[in-house]
Amino acid sequence: MSARVLNGNQIADAIKEELKQEIAALKSRGITPGLAAVLVGENPASQIYVRNKVRACELLGLYSERIELPTETSTEALLKLIGDLNAKDSIDGILVQLPLPSQIDAKRVLPAIDPKKDVDGLHPVNAGKLMSGRPGMVPCTPAGVIQILDRSQIPIRGARAVVVGRSDMVGKPMAMLLLHQNATVTICHSQTRDLVAVTREADILVAAMGKPALITKDFIKPGATVIDVGTSRLTRAEEVRAIFHDSSGPLERLQAKGFILIGDVQPEDVKEAAGAYTPVPGGVGPLTIAMLMSNTVHAARLRRG
Ligand code: NAP
Repeated sequence: MSARVLNGNQIADAIKEELKQEIAALKSRGITPGLAAVLVGENPASQIYVRNKVRACELLGLYSERIELPTETSTEALLKLIGDLNAKDSIDGILVQLPLPSQIDAKRVLPAIDPKKDVDGLHPVNAGKLMSGRPGMVPCTPAGVIQILDRSQIPIRGARAVVVGRSDMVGKPMAMLLLHQNATVTICHSQTRDLVAVTREADILVAAMGKPALITKDFIKPGATVIDVGTSRLTRAEEVRAIFHDSSGPLERLQAKGFILIGDVQPEDVKEAAGAYTPVPGGVGPLTIAMLMSNTVHAARLRRG
C-alpha cells in the first residue's frame, strides 16, 4: 500500500485562513502586524526565501519591510539596523535570514533582536522558554512540523520519535516540542553511531540534515511517519539520475529551472516504506512560512493588543 502524503500546502492554507480572522480583528482596532525581513548578501536560496516570506505577508494583509544589505555589511551596521527595528512600533517581528556572510558574528546579532520581536525564535530567551516549557516564540519550522502531525491526526504521545539533526533552528527545538507532547525522543547527528539502527526504531522520523536522499528504505520502520525537513538543490544531471530511479520527470524539471529541490529522504523509497510522509517540495516548507506569519500576528497581539 502506498503511503499517505501529508500535504503541507493544504495545512498551511488552513492556518493562513485562521490567521486572516485574527488579523481582521487586530486591524479593526487599528493594529496591522508588521514584519521586517533582513537579507544580507546575495545567496540565491535566501533571496527566494525572503521574497516568499514578504509575499506571504502581502497576501495576508500584513505590513512588511524587506531590507537588503550588501555582502560586506559589518556586524556593527547590522546591530544598528536591528536596534532601529527594535524601536520601531510598526514592526512586530524581525527576521534575519540565515546564513549570514562569514564576517558577521551571528552569535552577537541574533541576541540583539528584542525577544518579543524574535519571530524566528532563535533568541536565547526564547530558546530557554522552549526548553522549560514556557510560552515564547517557537522556531517556525519545528512549530510547523507539529502542526502537520496534529492536523493529520498522527499521535505523538508515547510515540518513539527520532530527530536527525541538532541545529538551534530545527533539530533541537523539534526535539523539545516532541518531548513536550510526550514523545520518547532521540536526537541524532553526524557523530551518531549506526544511524540506521536508531532511525528504524522511530514511529515518527524527522530528517533535518541537509543531506540529499540520505534516508533510504533501510532507515525507515515500515509504516512510520517520515517528516522531511531537508531542502537541498540538485544542479547536475548525474546527481538527479543517481537519486531518482525513473529520472525523466526530474531531469525535465532540472532543465527547465536549472535545479531541483530534494529532501533528506529518498523520495521513491519513502512512498513504499512509510505510513505517511511529507513530500519535498510541498511538505514542511509551506508550514515554515505559515508559522512565521502566525508568530508575527502573535507578537503583534502580545506587544500591542
Ligand atoms: P545545519 O545547521 O547544517 O544542521 C544539520 C544537522 O544535521 C547537524 O546537526 C549535523 O550534525 C546533522 N548531520 C549532517 N550530516 C549528517 C549525517 N550524515 N548523519 C546524521 N546527521 C547529520 O542545518 P539546519 O539549519 O538544521 O537545516 C537542515 C536542513 O533543513 C537543510 O537542508 C535546510 O535547508 C533545511 N531547512 C528547511 C526548512 C524548510 O522550511 N523546509 C527550514 C529550515 C531548514 P552535527 O551537528 O554533528 O554537524
